[in-house]
Amino acid sequence: MATRTVVIIGGGIAGLATAVRLIQHGIKPIVLEKRPFLGGRAYSFTDHDTGVEIDNGQHVFIGACNEFQQYVADIGASDQIRLEKRIGFPVFKRGKTSWIKARRLPGFLANLSALIGYRHVSIAGKLRLLWGLTSIKLTRLCSGPMSFHDQLTFDDWLRDHGQNNETINNFWNLIILPSLNDDITAVSAHTGIELFKVALLGSASNPAMGIPLSGLSKLVGENAREFIESHGGEVRTGIDVESLHISNGAITGVRTVNDELIEGQATISSVPAAAMTPILPKGSSDGPDDFFTPAESVRTAPIVAVHIWYDRPVLGEKFVATLDSPLQWVFNDTDLKSRNEKGQHIVISLSGAWEWQDRSKQELREIFTTEMENAFPAAAEARIEKFTIVKMLDATFRVAPGSQPSRLSQRTPLPGFYLAGDWTDTGWPSTMESAVRSGNLAAKYVVEDIGTGTTLNADSPPTSDRDAESLTSLRDNR
Ligand SMILES: Cc1cc2nc3c(=O)[nH]c(=O)nc-3n(C[C@H](O)[C@H](O)[C@H](O)COP(=O)(O)OP(=O)(O)OC[C@H]3O[C@@H](n4cnc5c(N)ncnc54)[C@H](O)[C@@H]3O)c2cc1C
Repeated sequence: MATRTVVIIGGGIAGLATAVRLIQHGIKPIVLEKRPFLGGRAYSFTDHDTGVEIDNGQHVFIGACNEFQQYVADIGASDQIRLEKRIGFPVFKRGKTSWIKARRLPGFLANLSALIGYRHVSIAGKLRLLWGLTSIKLTRLCSGPMSFHDQLTFDDWLRDHGQNNETINNFWNLIILPSLNDDITAVSAHTGIELFKVALLGSASNPAMGIPLSGLSKLVGENAREFIESHGGEVRTGIDVESLHISNGAITGVRTVNDELIEGQATISSVPAAAMTPILPKGSSDGPDDFFTPAESVRTAPIVAVHIWYDRPVLGEKFVATLDSPLQWVFNDTDLKSRNEKGQHIVISLSGAWEWQDRSKQELREIFTTEMENAFPAAAEARIEKFTIVKMLDATFRVAPGSQPSRLSQRTPLPGFYLAGDWTDTGWPSTMESAVRSGNLAAKYVVEDIGTGTTLNADSPPTSDRDAESLTSLRDNR
């Protein structure tokens, strides 16, 4: 029997990762999710119009996302993701395709070699890129609210370090826009520098693209539910938490909108910032110096996904980035998920999609099917069998200059209350990696404060033999 129980509000990746980590410490988690399904902002569903299961948005990760991959391994789903060995993707610009593709070289030299054959940047531009990357390598980032690099945009910082329109449009923003879901002129230098330090200036596998092979609900949600429930934890969907419950000056659980009291030795909120502040006890987020007040400044950015099913293949590659085109990034879902079908399911992922979020389905259909025909001649010959769009208006939190202080620590001043969620202070932008890291940190603080429990469900140890093998291979690959 478990000696300790922890209540987790939210069944997104952060909440589920927290639960998995607590189980590994012998603590029983009770995950409470408002919606009828798990996964939060990473889920899949059956589209009414088409009857096909689709993800709410194309989710990718990179090799540097160690804790996300570990989470996937822990829930026994390593066979449902695939990671390329090194960075390599085609970039399409006005009828010409050129690759950013790493060679077999040691360490970050492999990543730098990816720029050698990239023809959308001139030789003079490549020298500028080298200068920019060297400047990033030499930059020391400070954390804290007044961090210099959190006060200016990455665009400004890059221009101060030898970059111009050519390198910014054809290289830096090609990476920044999909990674941070915002334009380079809107993101902080701190986050931009950190991203390139970790990805491009790290090991060869760090920037390699990773792809989910199954629907997101199964990958991050149902696999986790199975793991949690089979190890003595609880996962309850359709439970909307209204407020935190206080007893003797400490948070000892939650009260739901149906007035149910659910108690535990600690309570963790893993919901987005905007959903967290309303459940706080009255008066706990008052005043400018209050711990929770900065969370009210968290802003979000939209992603629009355009799905087109063609009656034949129109794209030879698994994914392609585009320049000077609204297409941004185009994914060949049929190939990515190894589906053996005659036609092809294309997903166009539009980041920072303010321009598209209010357009009708018909307008988007006209614009994007025409753009596909312009970019890929085979699309002009193909028949469109199905078309749909998915709009996620609050897809990710923004990392604008000055946003650093809004990322709160997982340990709060309210006794018994902890935070998780991609938006909390993890050092990572709004990603599945940040969500898992936040959950691991929250679980660590809980364990420090309340201690570990006895092993849950002693018949089935936290990691099965198969998981243990995949963990080993993950570690070996690093
Ligand atoms: C379209 C799209 C594309 C993306 N692409 C990528 C990508 O390519 N790579 C990447 O790494 N990341 C990507 N992301 C971001 C990634 O999905 C998120 O960073 C991550 O899923 C956040 O997880 P979370 O658990 O922190 O928050 P959430 O997923 O928001 O989970 C919070 C959960 O709490 C629940 N909840 C809220 N209030 C309550 C309440 N009162 N009571 C009970 N439950 C409550 C919510 O229903 C939700 O399930 C993308 C996101 C979107 C939307």
